[in-house]
Amino acid sequence: MNNKMSITTKILIAMGIGLITGSLINAFASDINFIQTYFVNGLFHVVGAAFVNSLKMLVVPLVTFSLICGVCGIGDIAVLGRVGFKAFALYILTTGLAITLALVVAILIAPGEGFEQVTGAASFTPKPAPPLTDVFINIVPSNPINAFAEGNMLQIIFFVIIFAIAMLMTGEIGRQLAATAEKLNEVMMNVVTLVMDFAPIGVFFLMAKTFSIQGIGLVLPMIGYFSVVVLCLLLHGFGTFSLLLTLFAKLNPWLFIKKMRPAHIFAFSTASSNATIPVTLQVVEKRLGVDNSTAAFTVPLGATINMDGTAIMQGVATVFIANVYGIDLGVADYLTVVGMSILASIGTAGVPGVGLIMLAMVFNQVGLPVEGIGLILGVDRILDMIRTAVNITGDATVSCIVARSENNIDDTIFQNPDAGVITEVELPHKG
Ligand code: ASP
Repeated sequence: MNNKMSITTKILIAMGIGLITGSLINAFASDINFIQTYFVNGLFHVVGAAFVNSLKMLVVPLVTFSLICGVCGIGDIAVLGRVGFKAFALYILTTGLAITLALVVAILIAPGEGFEQVTGAASFTPKPAPPLTDVFINIVPSNPINAFAEGNMLQIIFFVIIFAIAMLMTGEIGRQLAATAEKLNEVMMNVVTLVMDFAPIGVFFLMAKTFSIQGIGLVLPMIGYFSVVVLCLLLHGFGTFSLLLTLFAKLNPWLFIKKMRPAHIFAFSTASSNATIPVTLQVVEKRLGVDNSTAAFTVPLGATINMDGTAIMQGVATVFIANVYGIDLGVADYLTVVGMSILASIGTAGVPGVGLIMLAMVFNQVGLPVEGIGLILGVDRILDMIRTAVNITGDATVSCIVARSENNIDDTIFQNPDAGVITEVELPHKG
């Protein structure tokens, strides 16, 4: 074991210090102009946003090369279809479980009953949600270059899979290209490692910025709603996933959670499953032992279509707002909420705050006042961070289950506590 502090520990410490710094600024310096201008909206914002950009920069090339390697690694279209079907079905199933759990717990605890409407709740004007028919039509890119330029994950996955299948059909030339993609994938993994070296700094500034703006005071009037969402996220994150991992992947859930730590930190700090893809991919392959041929496919797909944490927030928010406004929802309404949350989860990219926009669509369907979202706006950022961590845990769980069923997981890697630990890079020097 090397005695230098691991990079994950450094990031964790940076995260803690960032959180404390931000909270202190929020408590004592929120009206000091100098600090707000030059630190919160200056330094913290610039470095934090640049770091998130550097993570996003990795996503498209990494997913492309990794997915080409994955499809070529599977090498058989029937197997590819089977893996795709299993992953898709499991993603729907876990989201269905998540939203059902959230509705049951929220109905039992009934947050929002007798809630005094806080004055000055932020007003919320929803952006129009995309029509669901478009969600399906738009999986097929009319222009793949556009899809790559925009980072449209479902379209990229669709095109790359077809391209890689065509490579398999092209014999020797295809094989040579696959070997090149493999080398490029290796290089991209090293680009990830390089960016990781800056992660402690990036995470510090992200946390400091978020908590300078999000004071804990915002949470207090909303404590009922906030706690029920967190409770459900924990129940699903630790309960449902552990059960599924034990039953279907035959893996020790505690070890799984421990190994997921780097990915959790990134999901929490960035509140974006998409930006976390490079880290999730690395953790799922190098630390959990899932073969690239499964992970390259299941992880980016999951980051896009699987959002259990988001569905949980939507379930609790529906019950909460219905209680606040004294509106009775029937069984049919709850079933609509289940269906809509699953569709919303499929149809939206994993980026910060998107769950709230889709919530407007859910509310419209069951006739709840969309302005109600203004009430929960204040605490949403913190919940977003936690639910994003749950979202990516779902992606990793399903990846492990699919990999186990395909005999594609290496138990020696999973059991080894040091496997795939993110190390600092040694930059090459001349001479
Ligand atoms: N931020 C979440 C994610 O990226 C989506 C959401 O719930 O808003 O997974």
